[in-house]
Amino acid sequence: MEERRIVILGGGGVGKSAMTIRFLQNFFVTEYDPTIEENYRKQILVDNKPVFLDVLDTAGQEDYTSLREQYMETGQGFIIVYSITEKGSFEEVPEIYKTVLRVKDAETFPTVICGNKGDLECRREVTFMEGSNLAKTYGVPFYETSAKTLKNLEMAFHQIIREIRKVELPKKK
Ligand code: GDP
Ligand code: MG
Repeated sequence: MEERRIVILGGGGVGKSAMTIRFLQNFFVTEYDPTIEENYRKQILVDNKPVFLDVLDTAGQEDYTSLREQYMETGQGFIIVYSITEKGSFEEVPEIYKTVLRVKDAETFPTVICGNKGDLECRREVTFMEGSNLAKTYGVPFYETSAKTLKNLEMAFHQIIREIRKVELPKKK
């Protein structure tokens, strides 16, 4: 069966674990150890095709150096998460995506950018357009998500599978 390895990247506290656990295990975690790095596996259907998801929820505050590059090497697709309530987490996105490209030695790579905590409108620090424009400069899909309300969560995980399929299917011809 098709099996895909997705790596969730982003600053601390943006909701990487909450998104992963909400989507794969269907509950919302309010407290989750920020240092836990965990693999989650689940079979889902994307566009009526089964796919076995292997999701690495990353952790740690260290810079995007050697350790992070190691697991970037194994990823077939990346979800880069920031929080719409924290400008600083948004400003980290370019460095993260550039590191992905450097590790993959590519000009583009299957990636989806998510502005998470989309339910916290009252605490918003990053506009939809800022997120959307950044993603546009990279040519990657962008969603504002919420691990709490489920907003666009399935969409983001399904889309990263589609992005991977887009680049891999032509090779099989
Ligand atoms: P991580 O460090 O990126 O893995 O962040 P966590 O998943 O541990 O989330 C950090 C905190 O933000 C937790 O208290 C979560 O409950 C909360 N959180 C995560 N996603 C959302 C969201 O979409 N909406 C709201 N309101 N809170 C969220
Ligand atoms: Mg976490």
